Amino acid sequence: MSQSAEHVSPARNAKINLDPMDLYDVRGELSDEEIMVKDTVARFVDEKVLPMIGSAFEDHRFPAELVEPIAQMGLLGSSIEGYDCAGLNSICYGLICQELERGDSGLRSFVSVQSSLVMYPIHAFGSEDQRQQWLPKLASGKAIGCFGLTEPHGGSDPVNMKTRAHREGNEWVINGAKMWITNGTLADVAVVWAKTDEGIRGFLVEKGMPGFDAPEIKHKFSLRASVTSSLFFDNVRVPEANMLPGVSGIKGPLSCLTQARYGITWGVIGAAQACLREALDYTQERILFGRPVSHTQTVQRRLADMSRRITTAQLLSLQLGRKKDRGEMSPSQVSLAKWNNVRMAMDVARDARDLLGGAGISAEYCPIRHMLNLESVITYEGTETVHELIVGKELTGVSAF
Ligand SMILES: Cc1cc2nc3c(=O)[nH]c(=O)nc-3n(C[C@H](O)[C@H](O)[C@H](O)COP(=O)(O)OP(=O)(O)OC[C@H]3O[C@@H](n4cnc5c(N)ncnc54)[C@H](O)[C@@H]3O)c2cc1C
Repeated sequence: MSQSAEHVSPARNAKINLDPMDLYDVRGELSDEEIMVKDTVARFVDEKVLPMIGSAFEDHRFPAELVEPIAQMGLLGSSIEGYDCAGLNSICYGLICQELERGDSGLRSFVSVQSSLVMYPIHAFGSEDQRQQWLPKLASGKAIGCFGLTEPHGGSDPVNMKTRAHREGNEWVINGAKMWITNGTLADVAVVWAKTDEGIRGFLVEKGMPGFDAPEIKHKFSLRASVTSSLFFDNVRVPEANMLPGVSGIKGPLSCLTQARYGITWGVIGAAQACLREALDYTQERILFGRPVSHTQTVQRRLADMSRRITTAQLLSLQLGRKKDRGEMSPSQVSLAKWNNVRMAMDVARDARDLLGGAGISAEYCPIRHMLNLESVITYEGTETVHELIVGKELTGVSAF
């Protein structure tokens, strides 16, 4: 039945002004607190991060001066209740990651590692003494942490780690090496996973312990505004009190990765939004063949395609976050979103770089920086292939890896 114009509600006639970065109005689904967190971090990124992050990336320098303001906003360990942490929900954590990564994946990596890979396991698996000793310091940024799981011989297969710890009296002696560890050289405490006679256990290895070394890995072309390190353990003696008592086996590190991967699904949306914004602005200004290049059909299709990809990623992360807050999120759902959203962001960043032509290779514009950063993001916390295989296992019930 056709509907006459008189029966169409005013809302249906009104032109709704959509936000090009949020075509499905995810913002409209957020609580007041979630909007406040998003806007606070967005303002910080606009005012303090964007003006300097390009040169920090060029200089291969982690902007340590941003740690204090990030901590003061309550962004470190934001999901933890108590211990001077903000106790925010999972959507807030996701929005924090999104806005920080709109600035740079390196900054978001710093917060992801500190929050999900260091503070989370200390809170979830640590003794009360360990929580009291470390969480307030890590929340205030006075201490920095790192997470050592990956080893030089192959990160995708952590069950086969070679790092070993054995008991001697009331101490543990650790030997082995870890590689590609974010924040490693900066860290006051390293959450290190090692094989023992009781299975895989987590240890809090402290800076300066004899036999522990954490040199920085230089010459990266990706995540240049982040510190990445090797960790070496040569008969490092760690008191019994530094072992995480609450977990043993591979589920310990994997449960940390689930937290961090969830944050990444949101973070990369921010990187993609930054690239779409740059591509929109540039193609509207760029006059070719007598008109802005954004007026051509091909460019509009490409911009629309970026928006389609970003929008679907936003809805995936929003649904994932709501499930997480209800305690219903499964690791394979996180894998699907990490795979989808990081691939989305890489595709958007590359296309944005191309739409800028020659200017796209310049550090004056953000797409190439995001594009290079995302090469790390698609590899760490489980490569794209590993996440595809996790989803394949969910579908078939058979592990192909
Ligand atoms: C910048 C950066 C920061 C990082 N930060 C941290 C950190 O803080 N802590 C930490 O512990 N780790 C960290 N990592 C390590 C990261 O998690 C690993 O690099 C990642 O898990 C892959 O391990 P790998 O590099 O050893 O590659 P490999 O595991 O050797 O994989 C090589 C290739 O084989 C593929 N592959 C693996 N298994 C299969 C299979 N069954 N079938 C088909 N293909 C397969 C992979 O997809 C990949 O393409 C970081 C890495 C980078 C680059």
